[in-house]
Amino acid sequence: MKKIAILGSTGSIGTQALEVISENREAFSVETLTANNNADLLIKQAKIFKPNSVVIRNEEKYKLVNDALSSEGIKVYCGAKSIEDIVTSDSIDIVLTAMVGYSGLIPTINAIKKGKTIALANKETLVVAGKIITDLAKEYGSKILPVDSEHSAIFQCLSGEIQNPIEKIFLTASGGPFRGKNTEFLQNVTKKQALNHPNWVMGNKITIDSASLMNKGLEVIEAKWLFDLRADQIDVVVHPQSIVHSAVQFKDGSIKAQMGIPDMKLPIQYALGYPKRIKNNFKRFSFFDYPNLTFEKADRKTFKNLDLAYKALETGGNSPCILNAANEIAVEAFLNEKISFLKMSDLIANCMEKIIFVKNPDLEDLIATDSETRILAKQLL
Ligand code: MN
Repeated sequence: MKKIAILGSTGSIGTQALEVISENREAFSVETLTANNNADLLIKQAKIFKPNSVVIRNEEKYKLVNDALSSEGIKVYCGAKSIEDIVTSDSIDIVLTAMVGYSGLIPTINAIKKGKTIALANKETLVVAGKIITDLAKEYGSKILPVDSEHSAIFQCLSGEIQNPIEKIFLTASGGPFRGKNTEFLQNVTKKQALNHPNWVMGNKITIDSASLMNKGLEVIEAKWLFDLRADQIDVVVHPQSIVHSAVQFKDGSIKAQMGIPDMKLPIQYALGYPKRIKNNFKRFSFFDYPNLTFEKADRKTFKNLDLAYKALETGGNSPCILNAANEIAVEAFLNEKISFLKMSDLIANCMEKIIFVKNPDLEDLIATDSETRILAKQLL
């Protein structure tokens, strides 16, 4: 029985992880659930899955959650610090990091330092502090298992290939709702249009990132750290059907790809069950439903975020941290209708120019970079 902590249990990945767990109650038990703000759903989940403890990040909702759960024998905590602490509990085997953005960083570091297995759904953690995270994981013998569908695909392709170095990888991208559109069109797109992703149902932040191709940019950086690659070994291929989830090319030119119907429950289940595959009743793929799988180049002139991410990766240091913090502010501003779709890239580029570069940042440097970038981005808005 694997004991699981889900950070961000009320979000899109968190709720789907609980669906996976509920179908495999003999294999998994829920040890801890944490949520940012959605107290009602957290209470509902806790009553069903009976975790040892829950944390609600918003301290104003502590009483509500505690009143509902203390009689059930569930420990209730609140605040960001409690999330950072609870992951170190001896009774946790796997920490599924499914919270949004930068907030995943410190809890993930704490869990790694206790040697926990990390099922990583919070790509921003590796974008901000990839070197620190991967060094710590080595030092403390903590495994990092990707939940992001593209990285899960690559991870699955690498199974049995320990002796065989990667020549390059192909990260597939759906292209999002604005694939094929030009700058003129993008000038006036609305929040509603951007949130309408063709293939995947996801949280708001990642859906906007998908529309702007920043999600793919963040994934390029995530892949660098997960698989120890250089920027020139990572190619992005737009594949509108989202059936080929990504591919690896080896030194003999042979390519392995992982395929399936787009459903996040599969990579979640693979990470939680790893190294075993678990039988399920998910809908099966048929080649004959998809006679035309197509592939095209990413339009990096129109969607500038992808170039910005490659630039951040090549520059290194605190540059990806600047990219991420500026993007989080840009996406929030776009969702609040304070900035246009294309202005998001300008804001990020501006922050990358203005924030002071640090070549070998430690964690304190990155925390400072993150907060300085957020302040500057808000001033520039
Ligand atoms: Mn992805």
